Formats: sequence, structure tokens, C-alpha cells
Amino acid sequence: MRKLIIAIDGPVGSGKSTLARRVAALMGYVYIDTGAMYRAVAVKALRSGVSLDAADELTALAGNTRIDLQAQEGGQRVFLDGEDVTTAIRTPEVAQAASKVAVVPGVRQVLVAEQRRAGAQGGVVMEGRDIGSVVFPDADLKIFLTASPEIRAERRWREHQQKGDAIDLPRTLEEIHERDRRDQERTSSPLVRARDAVVVDSTAMEPEEVARLVVLLAKTQAAAGATT
Ligand code: C5P
Repeated sequence: MRKLIIAIDGPVGSGKSTLARRVAALMGYVYIDTGAMYRAVAVKALRSGVSLDAADELTALAGNTRIDLQAQEGGQRVFLDGEDVTTAIRTPEVAQAASKVAVVPGVRQVLVAEQRRAGAQGGVVMEGRDIGSVVFPDADLKIFLTASPEIRAERRWREHQQKGDAIDLPRTLEEIHERDRRDQERTSSPLVRARDAVVVDSTAMEPEEVARLVVLLAKTQAAAGATT
């Protein structure tokens, strides 16, 4: 069967990572979390004291950064210039910083080029905000995953609770609104639903139900492609 490019986009906490990981496992595909790349650039900017508003410096910094995503059982490890930052990129502070560096067109250009290289051969499930609209506008299957802000905040807050991050539910909801706003209002590759994306609302669905639905769509697509 043909190896597809599956694009999964959607706002913070919609369940993209869980879905993309599961679909990749069920299809035997590679999972690529592009948000991790923006987070890695943000970690480097925070550490090196580069202002999160300094577009030129951030673009230069992104261009001088090596980000390696290595598949591992059930997910991916993230290396920033050779250092394993898989855990370091998952703090609320880095999440906010990532959404600021993601506004910079030059940073996006560098990372989008990497993402295209990584997915070019197909057999990938790539998740982010602009995969179906910008990175792979010809992706074989595009999913736009959404859920109510309250449910998204609750999911994200539970993850923070498990890791011991000191952030409460109202603040998590505020942060989600802030990041949604920044993602939707930026001029360079804002978060939009690609016209040919399938919209899936996960508010009242179990993760496994969503994954089975997407795998069904993917297999139908792959079989159709094989006969044409
Ligand atoms: O998906 P995640 O929350 O890890 O992404 C971190 C930030 O990176 C997001 O808030 C978003 O602003 C940005 N991002 C993006 N485009 C992508 C993936 C992530 O702008 N393809």
C-alpha cells in the first residue's frame, strides 16, 4: 500500500499528540511532532538571553540550531544541538516562549524546510498548526482536530499535575486562550483549517475512537491511491 503523508493540525490540547502517536503506531509510520521543534528553538533562545521579540536574532539562532527528532517506542526524543531536551521543552514557560518564536516568519521558514525534508518520503504522521495548510498542502490526509477550550485546558492541566508543574486550572485555561490567540492572529502561517481537512471534534470522544476513525480514513485513502 502507498505510504501516506498524514497531517494533523489543531489548537493546544486538542489531543493531536496522542492521536498522531497512536495513528503512527497503528499504521507503522513515523511520528513527527513539529511543536517540539518550536519548543527547542525557544529553549535555546531563553538560555542564550535572546529576546523573544527580536525577529532577526531569532531567525539567525534557528538557522544555527540542529534539532534531531528520534523515534522511540510510543513517541519521540528531541535533541537540541546534541543535547536531549525531551523533558526540558515541556514546561509552561517554554510553551509560551515557543508560541512567541513561532510568530517569526524567518524561524518558521527554517523549521518548515526541515519538516518537509523529514516527511518527503511519506509514511509519516506529522502534527502541528500549519502542516496541512503550509508544510504539506498536498498531504494525502488532513485532519483538523478540535475540542472545547474547557476540555483542552483540563487535559493540559492534568498533564501538568502529573509532572508536578505548579499551575492551576484557571491559569491553564488563560494560557491556552493566549496561545490560541497568538496562533490564530499571526500573519505568517496562522492556525487555520485547510479547506480539504476533515474536522474532528474530540470533546466527547475517547482517544482510541478518534485514532480508529483516522486510521480508517487513512486506509481508505491508501487503497484508493493504490488503484488509481
Ligand atoms: O504543539 P505544541 O504546543 O508543542 O507547540 C508549541 C508552540 O509552537 C505552539 O503554541 C505554536 O505556537 C507553535 N507551533 C506552530 N506551528 C507548528 C507547531 C507548533 O506555530 N507546526
